[in-house]
Amino acid sequence: MLRILLTNDDGIDAQGLHVLEAAVAGLGEIHVVAPLTEQSGTSRAITLRRPLRYETRGVRRYAVEGTPADTVMMAISQILGFQPDLAISGINSGPNLGENIYYSGTVAAAAEAAKYGVPAIALSVNARSDIDYLATAEFGARLAAKVIEDGLPAGVALNVNVPHPWDGGIEITRQSRRISRSVMIETADPHGRPYYWMHEEVPLADAEPGTDYAAIRDGHISITPIRFDHTEEALLEPLKRSVVASLLQTR
Ligand code: MN
Repeated sequence: MLRILLTNDDGIDAQGLHVLEAAVAGLGEIHVVAPLTEQSGTSRAITLRRPLRYETRGVRRYAVEGTPADTVMMAISQILGFQPDLAISGINSGPNLGENIYYSGTVAAAAEAAKYGVPAIALSVNARSDIDYLATAEFGARLAAKVIEDGLPAGVALNVNVPHPWDGGIEITRQSRRISRSVMIETADPHGRPYYWMHEEVPLADAEPGTDYAAIRDGHISITPIRFDHTEEALLEPLKRSVVASLLQTR
């Protein structure tokens, strides 16, 4: 029997998680271990200065009082007591595209699972309100079956974004560089003091062909294979020649 871990960053009560649970139920034994509260934008933070706790929320359902990374660590090393055959993080309310994936708790949970050698999928829908999760969940289930069949290299995950609505197209993409621009919106509180709300502008016309943003803009599902080894291979040899050589000489 295949054992599948479902998690997210929107919290155990999020609708996207519930719809995904129903869609993947036929694929194997489903284990839900998700953060107790919403953890969007927490990236791969871990909790070091306070204790971690979890509570049982039904049959094979657990809520961890921590970040998405805490949650996956707790799931694999403590709660489940085994390594699942697949992990899916989502369905996130809102996209995880381009350089925004560095801030994403959804992607971080998949990264954490990949660290343990578990094939992992981060699944997001490109909508933030009035979301119909069904098409995303059903696609996620079909993709999950495929990933279980084919496997994924260690340390790699699939970052999947589904447009809302979806026109049926699917693209294998690369991560966009620098499409969205973060801006601070200034407003005043009742005492006249300024406060700021983070907002982003997304000039989609600038999206390069073949990238995640371009696929979503065109109504297609974007599937980006992502790895978590940040080494810039192309600089290893040049740095050995220049930096190491010159620092050794001048010591
Ligand atoms: Mn989220």
